[in-house]
Amino acid sequence: MNAMESAAVVGSMLGIVFARQQLSNLARFVGGGKATREPETPHRLECDYLVVGAGAASLAFVDTLLTELPRAEVILVDRHDAPGGHWNDAYDFVRLHQPSIVYGLASRKLEGSWLWNFLQCRAPWQHRANKSEILAHFTSGVRDWVKSGRVRYYPRCEYDFSQPEAVHSEGGTLRRFRGCDGSTEYTALVRHKVVNGTVGEPLIPALCPLPFPVDPWGVEVITPNDLNGLKPLGGGRKRHYVVLGCGKTGVDTVVYLQRKMRVDPKRDITLIVPQVPWCYTRDGPRGPHGPMGLWAEVLKNGGDRDRALRELGRQGSLTPLFEGTEPTVCRYPVIGKDELQDVARVGHIVRRGRIRSVTRSGDQVSLNFRGRGGKVKVKAAADDVCLVNCCAPGPLLKKAVPPVFDGNIINLSLLFGPPVGFTMTIIGMIEASAQQGLLDASFCREEIGCEDPLALFAAYDIMDTSARSMMEVFLNLGLVAAIMRKDPAVTLRWLKRNRLSMYSIPFVQMNLAEKLHEISAKRSALGVSRGKARMALALARKIEGQAF
Ligand SMILES: Cc1cc2nc3c(=O)[nH]c(=O)nc-3n(C[C@H](O)[C@H](O)[C@H](O)COP(=O)(O)OP(=O)(O)OC[C@H]3O[C@@H](n4cnc5c(N)ncnc54)[C@H](O)[C@@H]3O)c2cc1C
Repeated sequence: MNAMESAAVVGSMLGIVFARQQLSNLARFVGGGKATREPETPHRLECDYLVVGAGAASLAFVDTLLTELPRAEVILVDRHDAPGGHWNDAYDFVRLHQPSIVYGLASRKLEGSWLWNFLQCRAPWQHRANKSEILAHFTSGVRDWVKSGRVRYYPRCEYDFSQPEAVHSEGGTLRRFRGCDGSTEYTALVRHKVVNGTVGEPLIPALCPLPFPVDPWGVEVITPNDLNGLKPLGGGRKRHYVVLGCGKTGVDTVVYLQRKMRVDPKRDITLIVPQVPWCYTRDGPRGPHGPMGLWAEVLKNGGDRDRALRELGRQGSLTPLFEGTEPTVCRYPVIGKDELQDVARVGHIVRRGRIRSVTRSGDQVSLNFRGRGGKVKVKAAADDVCLVNCCAPGPLLKKAVPPVFDGNIINLSLLFGPPVGFTMTIIGMIEASAQQGLLDASFCREEIGCEDPLALFAAYDIMDTSARSMMEVFLNLGLVAAIMRKDPAVTLRWLKRNRLSMYSIPFVQMNLAEKLHEISAKRSALGVSRGKARMALALARKIEGQAF
């Protein structure tokens, strides 16, 4: 047997396995009964999906899965006391930096009633939920699912991803999780898949120490969470705040210090800026564009990301955090004009790269920078200096990104950039379509040469700034459009009705087929492989004429 013949045999075997799997899933989700093997006990459970993590990613996924597979049963496990993931640990004055209308769960509004928004003299798409609104949104979702009996929620519980897989003799796998205090262990027979909703877990300042040493003898260090309860200094002295970092948390902190704590920005704030970021303008001349706008511009510019960034800056979709500076990094924060003005008011802005250490000598605090950054003396008495840790990278961490569909594991990696809900509702829908046998498997086999449609979706690594990586976003969107259902018009209707999808915004269109053709034509400049370029063409042909 030559290599081609072996490949064909393996391919058809995979096809048979896939088809058998589809049949058994169809029986479970469409017509058949529940295949319970042994009676459940409080600690011996059974479910279709065991979802680890109850943050924005997992909950958006579960929400869509439950809507699309009305018979599916889910166990939800999370270390936190309450749903909402990292939002539980966030500082009280945090808000979404993007509109609420595309965040949270597809099945319920986060922006509240549109009438109420208009009565507040605000368009619904200008609503940006605060911490308590976000937590209430997720909590009410989980509460309703639990009430319906379809979700069992295990807060304060931990799942160990390194546990060996134990296959059950009658199908499914046995998985264990335990209470965080170690007192209780649960075993779950998972009929379908384990869902890893921890992939995008961000690192936030409240939970991670400063990444450099600070002289332990007398420099106050806090996080934004502590600002609310700070006791005044004695003797009428005022604190001098050194805000370490200028991502979303750093900018929020600078704004809060001025607007709520009435701190004089000229005299009493120093802002440390390791790198000047590009920010998306919330209210710029062309309105918010989001990351899709950047990838489209990269494609237009033949893969030249820097040129694309400059072009978006020229158009007003992006702005440097400080007027007249050349940004060196783009991490997708969205910023309003009023916030830019607050940042510009800060009296001491230090742009010397990353801090190596903070030392105190007598009444002087020094910030020691890496490399050629040298040393900067804080312009305040040492006892008045307050370092505010805004250094953590949030969700933008350099780490290996696991594949989304990996056998009986679903990793909730991104397929597109932020907001996270768009990817997660789509992964939920793809999974539901796969379980119901609704994916266009014959198109994948005949036009793309792949037996398993799920294997075609590539996780998007947001930290990889290469054009090749950015093009995955359009390829994933093309796959969604072309194969989630046999008829792309059905998919488009679903996307238009889904509040987490950009297509739900009136008149939004991506000219996706055109972009897929362009990817194929500019393949070499973009670093896209021949196979992916061929796939792009096949996808473009299938969705031609549809308003994607
Ligand atoms: C300050 C801030 C503002 C942001 N603003 C926005 C915004 O405006 N728009 C936007 O799109 N994104 C925003 N983000 C990005 C944000 O990270 C995502 O929107 C989203 O909230 C991430 O959700 P997640 O479910 O991936 O992670 P998390 O919310 O961290 O949820 C993961 C959950 O998994 C649990 N967990 C982890 N390991 C285990 C285990 N082994 N066993 C059990 N449970 C486990 C954790 O306890 C956690 O609850 C912001 C991030 C930060 C830090």
